[in-house]
Amino acid sequence: MIDAVATIGAGQAAAVAVRTMRRAGFDGRIEMIGDEPDRPYQRPPLSKEYLASGDDEGLFLLPERWCEENDVRLRLGQPAVRISAADAGVELADGTLVAADAVLIATGGRPRRLPVAAGARICYLRTIADSDRLRSHLRPGARLIVVGGGFIGSEVAATAHGLGCQVTVVEALAAPLLPVLGPVVGAACARLHQAHGVDLRLAESVAEVSESAAGVVVTTGSGARIEGDVLVAGIGCQPNVEVAARSGLAVGNGVIVDEHCRTSIPNVLAAGDIANHWHPLFGERMRVEHFDNASKQAAAAARSLLGRGGPYADPHWFWSDQYDVNLQYAGHANGADELVVRGSLDDLDFCAFYLRDGLLRAAFGVDRGAEVMAAKELIAGQVRVPAGVLADEDADLAELAEAALLDESLEEELA
Ligand SMILES: Cc1cc2nc3c(=O)[nH]c(=O)nc-3n(C[C@H](O)[C@H](O)[C@H](O)COP(=O)(O)OP(=O)(O)OC[C@H]3O[C@@H](n4cnc5c(N)ncnc54)[C@H](O)[C@@H]3O)c2cc1C
Repeated sequence: MIDAVATIGAGQAAAVAVRTMRRAGFDGRIEMIGDEPDRPYQRPPLSKEYLASGDDEGLFLLPERWCEENDVRLRLGQPAVRISAADAGVELADGTLVAADAVLIATGGRPRRLPVAAGARICYLRTIADSDRLRSHLRPGARLIVVGGGFIGSEVAATAHGLGCQVTVVEALAAPLLPVLGPVVGAACARLHQAHGVDLRLAESVAEVSESAAGVVVTTGSGARIEGDVLVAGIGCQPNVEVAARSGLAVGNGVIVDEHCRTSIPNVLAAGDIANHWHPLFGERMRVEHFDNASKQAAAAARSLLGRGGPYADPHWFWSDQYDVNLQYAGHANGADELVVRGSLDDLDFCAFYLRDGLLRAAFGVDRGAEVMAAKELIAGQVRVPAGVLADEDADLAELAEAALLDESLEEELA
């Protein structure tokens, strides 16, 4: 029987876990421990609408009133140091012990840093403060250098372009998003930037960064010199494992959890960007850094804490908004051996399907949300769909998924 729960981290995953516990009728004590000064908030707008405008409408996750009515105590600006099993609680940096008989670790990650000194013109993007700082540089005509053509780098490039900045993206690989999307679809994403006049330097490393009062200069591995007013690095995220490691939990590219979000210590769970979880559908461990996973996995962890959970086997889904298009991805393409494209890569109007041994593993679409969502159902149901059907614009994937799931439930009923 659990009487008191503490979350370490007060971001997306923690907020959803807490909401889920209260909705499920948990009436014990709940405390959220967050090292940031802000109330729980969502990060996706920080590279999109919020970066562009500074408008925080819809940014925050748990209104003050909700916390009061639901008796959720927020301890903000207070880093947790370790979980103490002996003292049955969480120790904070100021020495306070927050009593808890169950703990959710939801500490997320922090941006990987370039091996250069922090300077006024060198930015990273994870927090509200980071987004505010970057925005202050993004005036029309400002020259922005984006290091890294992943999702965050690509989104910032698009937002800055929309604000009238001159944008150069330096990407070490041969295409943006190459590890996730592969070379063919990655090349289509390169065209998306190029079509908007963004200077995309592919297969270019950053050899040196120098900053002065006048600007910032990047020297690339091939010797090119790129001058800018501000630089933002989006070169990946490092999981915040320190509290878990100090508490004796198994860590390794995040906190190791099973399909019920359980760590190596009883009554300590982890969810969100920090959780290196066993995925029963894909049969491998993974750590993903997406909003939808942070929410769904946190809800699964909350149910698991209350003893009501099934395994967390969502195929994963995320979106990205860049320029005037919406990109969506579902599944996990690792080991894919076949790519099937519906629509036109050249026209940036397509849905790409990634198959392994003939089975759909992942889908990525540009302004094709409905197809990606249908593909997600097909992936979850492990429904085999011939390549010709996937490529056929007239084949209704949602209908296919519905029919397959109906067959499955009929089979279960008849079994
Ligand atoms: C700029 C940006 C744009 C994004 N856009 C998208 C998008 O378009 N689509 C999408 O699917 N995903 C997007 N994401 C990813 C998504 O926001 C994350 O997956 C999600 O925030 C993860 O939630 P989390 O709770 O695991 O971690 P977080 O939201 O990072 O929360 C973790 C919290 O724990 C705190 N913490 C860490 N250590 C301690 C400690 N010792 N004590 C107390 N607190 C601690 C952290 O400071 C942080 O506040 C974006 C992320 C960023 C940064």
